[in-house]
Amino acid sequence: MMRLIPKGALLHTHDMGVARPDFLLQVTYEPLLYVCSDHPPKFLFSSILPKHACDSDWQLMTEARTKFGDVNKFDAELKKYFSLVTSDLRDVYPDVNAVWRRKYDYRETVKVYKTVLDKFSHRYKDFYGGRLIYSPSKLSWRTMNITNELQKAEELKREFPDLIAGTISTLVQRFGTWSDENLVDAVLLKPKRIGNPHALVKHPLLMNLVKQNDIALEVNVISDQVLNLVDDFRNHPLSVLLAYDMPVVIASDYNFLWEANSLTHDFYVIFTGVSSERSDLRLLKQLALNSMKYNTVKDKRPMEKMFQDNWNQFLDRVLENFS
Ligand SMILES: [Zn+2]
Repeated sequence: MMRLIPKGALLHTHDMGVARPDFLLQVTYEPLLYVCSDHPPKFLFSSILPKHACDSDWQLMTEARTKFGDVNKFDAELKKYFSLVTSDLRDVYPDVNAVWRRKYDYRETVKVYKTVLDKFSHRYKDFYGGRLIYSPSKLSWRTMNITNELQKAEELKREFPDLIAGTISTLVQRFGTWSDENLVDAVLLKPKRIGNPHALVKHPLLMNLVKQNDIALEVNVISDQVLNLVDDFRNHPLSVLLAYDMPVVIASDYNFLWEANSLTHDFYVIFTGVSSERSDLRLLKQLALNSMKYNTVKDKRPMEKMFQDNWNQFLDRVLENFS
């Protein structure tokens, strides 16, 4: 039933987690893909032998596969790097973000997104498009030059005005430290949404401001457990946010890294583990409606109408099949 529920928009997901591991494995069969067998391995599409740093050697993926001999074993080992179910996010993370380090790379990357999103919107008429949030790796925040990063974001916004959106992300920080108090700045800047708002429940004044200014809070419950921020779902701060009727949107973060479906599993966990046992279908509908209210699509009427039609169809299906 949870699979059938219309869930609205997915407002917080990362490029490295939006493709299934099987799909990524399939991509490694594309021509002109080079691999550097460091641990973790690096991949690069290139028409010439890549010159990027590599402790071992760059070789064509097709050659590496043939040399290894046992293709099934090779693919099984390779797939481990695309999924957290068998590997470690922290191993993979830094190198995927390396894509953004070079000036020409990030512009090329955004162009690729634009092409794919345009094609996808053309083919699927009920898809309302996607937008990108420029977000440098959190792992490099100590060395990152904020002014440079802002310039890059502005440059991208000028070149792709409809594609680039913006938000502010917060993290779990020790209560009362300067990084925890960055949340004050985040709220005072009056963004449209705030990501990962775990710390908010420790700041009642900010909670009020968030509500007054109608700033949406993006919550990724399964991701929080995988990333070890919350162990038991029943203790997730989302239950407090729901109890205070805060504007919440549910998202799935890097879901295919742990092989969960986008939103379906998150909705399931929220319904069975986080929300009050007295909550019902109205909660799930409200969460879906929130995702439409707080996205950046300008004319929302067609989207909302389609959602309502889908919702009615969903109710009919449930009454037919489950009652
Ligand atoms: Zn995230």
